[in-house]
Amino acid sequence: MSSCAIVGINWGDEGKGRMVDLLTEDYDVVVRYQGGGNAGHTVVNDKGKFALHLLPSGIFRQGVVNVLGNGVALDPENLWTEMEDVRSKGVDITPDSLKISDRASLLLPWHRELDGLEEARLADRQYGSTKQGIAPFYSDKYQKKTVLAGELFYPDELRRHLRDILEWKNLTLTGVYGAQPCAWEDVEKWLDDYCEKIKPFVCDTGAFLRKARDSGKNILFEAQLGALRDLDFGICPYTTSSNTLASYAPIGSGLPSMKIDRVMGVVKAYSTCVGEGPFVGEMTGEEADRLREAGAEYGAKTGRPRRVAPVDLVATRYGVQVQGATSIALTKLDVLSYMDEIPLCVRYEVNGRQTDEFPFPTELYGAKAVIEYMPGWKCDISGVRQWEDLPPAARDYVTRIEKAAGCPVTHVSVGPERDSIIIRNVK
Ligand code: GDP
Repeated sequence: MSSCAIVGINWGDEGKGRMVDLLTEDYDVVVRYQGGGNAGHTVVNDKGKFALHLLPSGIFRQGVVNVLGNGVALDPENLWTEMEDVRSKGVDITPDSLKISDRASLLLPWHRELDGLEEARLADRQYGSTKQGIAPFYSDKYQKKTVLAGELFYPDELRRHLRDILEWKNLTLTGVYGAQPCAWEDVEKWLDDYCEKIKPFVCDTGAFLRKARDSGKNILFEAQLGALRDLDFGICPYTTSSNTLASYAPIGSGLPSMKIDRVMGVVKAYSTCVGEGPFVGEMTGEEADRLREAGAEYGAKTGRPRRVAPVDLVATRYGVQVQGATSIALTKLDVLSYMDEIPLCVRYEVNGRQTDEFPFPTELYGAKAVIEYMPGWKCDISGVRQWEDLPPAARDYVTRIEKAAGCPVTHVSVGPERDSIIIRNVK
């Protein structure tokens, strides 16, 4: 039995889905352990191009069991819509290939609306939410004001529970935000339209995972977003509302006592960030437009243009440390091929002092990037499959990142397709 977590080292959108899709070949089970439908993994494989939001990226491999663990924000509406979409493109999804934890809490019909109402109240101080209801969902989960997927098997108790929560939630909707209350009929419709559809997939995934582990199956944990969006260790308050770190994977999956063998940290060859908040080294103007176009940096969920910056060695080293990464997959190296020289953010200047340490979030507002340049390689590398065949300037760039991060780069991705990958033997 071996286990591996694939996690983001930076702000998310590093290409984790692409790496999970590649590595599932060696794994029997793929588990999503946190987050919800608020971000997107783009996966390109022999079945087509898919934007996944909640489904684990192992869904395309025959024989792989995909699990949505207890730590996810289980949105029945979004999940069902996504399942229908993926199935319409010829991918089979059955209760054998997808299992939903009976201990996953449900994102309720009012969570999305509450997200929008709070962002509207914040006006120009918005957090940049994707308005998928994730923050209201997780706060309600910790207040014990939502229901577990397993409660779908107890319809009378479920309805009593939901009526109680609805009564409480309508106090917030009407009293705090002056919005319309949510009607019970809408809850019944939601139960019929979506919850009943996903019910056949709900089971005791903790028991399933324990059995899988004990019988020697290989388990892959798939994270959403990146280290800098972690609720506790990220750039508060511009984080997500769950824990994106590998150490949370066993808990959010349903195997709380497990030790993970390998943590693959995914790093993009330059930086991107969606939404608000400090982003040290952010590029602007033509330079930014060119990189955004070259990397097709538009959100998979929202279509929003992503903010772009040079690779950030300070944030990357911090991300590697908090993730406990044992290897790095560096993605999108091909995107930088047009550059004459490649900028890198090598240190931060905070309060007039240069530092290698990632600062406390409040200090990020005044932090400046110290930029150095490395020569570009100026040729198409998307067809390269061997480390030795990369131009020396590209290899130097990769090893510079590796050295700064203190972690070996074992995979270099040079295109979105499954086989556009260089696997490197690093001692
Ligand atoms: P994730 O959420 O971390 O899985 O990342 P996203 O899917 O949001 O963003 C990664 C995007 O980059 C997707 O559109 C991928 O198809 C694409 N991609 C991944 N790796 C590479 C690569 O090496 N080169 C290029 N050009 N595109 C890549």
